[in-house]
Amino acid sequence: MAQKTNPFQTMLEQLDAAAQIAGLDKNDYITLRYPERELTVNFPVKMDDGSTQVFTGYRVQHSTVRGPAKGGIRFHPDVDMDEVRALAAWMTFKCAVVDIPYGGAKGGVTVDPTNLSVSDKERITRGYTAKIADFIGPEKDIPATDVNTTQQMMGWIMDTYSTLKGVYSPGVVTSKPVEAGGSIGRKEATGRGVFITTRELAKKLGMDLKKSTVVVQGFGNVGSNAAMYLHEAGAKIIAVSDVSGGLYCEDGLDIPAMLDYVAKHPRHIIEGYKQDGIKATDNHGILTCKTDFLVLAALENQITEEVAKEVQAKVVIEGANGPTTFGGDKILEERGVFVCPDILTNAGGVTVSYFEWVQNLQHLAWDLETVNNNLERIMVKAFNEVYTVAEDKKIPMRMAAYIVALQRLVAVQKIRGIFL
Ligand code: NAD
Repeated sequence: MAQKTNPFQTMLEQLDAAAQIAGLDKNDYITLRYPERELTVNFPVKMDDGSTQVFTGYRVQHSTVRGPAKGGIRFHPDVDMDEVRALAAWMTFKCAVVDIPYGGAKGGVTVDPTNLSVSDKERITRGYTAKIADFIGPEKDIPATDVNTTQQMMGWIMDTYSTLKGVYSPGVVTSKPVEAGGSIGRKEATGRGVFITTRELAKKLGMDLKKSTVVVQGFGNVGSNAAMYLHEAGAKIIAVSDVSGGLYCEDGLDIPAMLDYVAKHPRHIIEGYKQDGIKATDNHGILTCKTDFLVLAALENQITEEVAKEVQAKVVIEGANGPTTFGGDKILEERGVFVCPDILTNAGGVTVSYFEWVQNLQHLAWDLETVNNNLERIMVKAFNEVYTVAEDKKIPMRMAAYIVALQRLVAVQKIRGIFL
């Protein structure tokens, strides 16, 4: 069996490569090679069936140089410290790329929530929150949704934290339901940001979205919203996959019908969706399908060196975090496949999380137009900054995104200096 790629190692390889291109001295960025703080918690949960189970969770604060730590919480059976560390670091660089005043963090619980009842999920969420409550806070570290965590769960985190602290604290977590202090537009924000980035890139590459085909891996929050906006812009979504498998249709999938189907499915999956001319495919088929754009919106380590040799997409859009390994990236570059990197492409989510937090701290509620206009402004600016560095230095967009982020991080680190 192939050895699992350590995503934190991938992050370090990307960071060192970008720092070298930028001509940085190792002393200037060495702190970014280490997470500031890491917490592992084991907590008991009384399950619906009467048993007591002990779950393991993590929270990593990679950097607080540019602001409080910020990053989502993942519920997945493969969650481990290396994954959480990598995801926390990517948050640091992502927040710096879009220039919002946050550091980077991530959390997770090693659990498969697919077949758990709502009450079991609630107790796991509350148990985890209670154990990390002293570690997080509106001015310290602000979680949000990620893979398999929902807006409802963010509501439970807010309630647990507020109850334990005796202070109503909506700013402790973002991506909450709108009724509980969430921001309008947050749920769709990552997918919207993926769309904005793809649209801007298409313009630069001289590709017409209306004449383009798109394949989407992962049809959860990020993938389904990205598919919806790309479909609305006239692109033809020819294949989509999720944990249950993939579906291909040469004439284009009916994305609104699929969204409706998934919303009504008890497990929110595409399995069983029917449309004329549709064919089943698998993960490999999705990743190697002939298409203009391949949107990755599932998990990390999808485009490995082996897969990269077979990718037929012209452009890879990283909606997920870390979907391409360092080796996979090199092969895509050699083969002329354009990669739009995660730390830019999926930054729309944390950007609107930032808006949500700002609204919470000020006890304000923005309207959708204000949220979307500000998201558009920030994403387009960040895209252009990264694209310009890539063009000027003739380097891949990922290296350019890291360089934009590193310039901001190193500047603040120098001003702050080292305490003792
Ligand atoms: P989600 O749980 O809503 O959706 C994940 C999707 O991936 C589901 O459709 C699932 O079935 C599918 N999936 C899982 N394993 C798969 C596999 N092996 N092959 C194909 N599909 C598979 O999660 P999400 O919030 O949409 O997150 C997806 C990615 O985007 C993650 O990498 C996450 O870190 C990243 N991300 C999310 C946000 C956000 O705001 N939610 C923000 C930035 C980045």
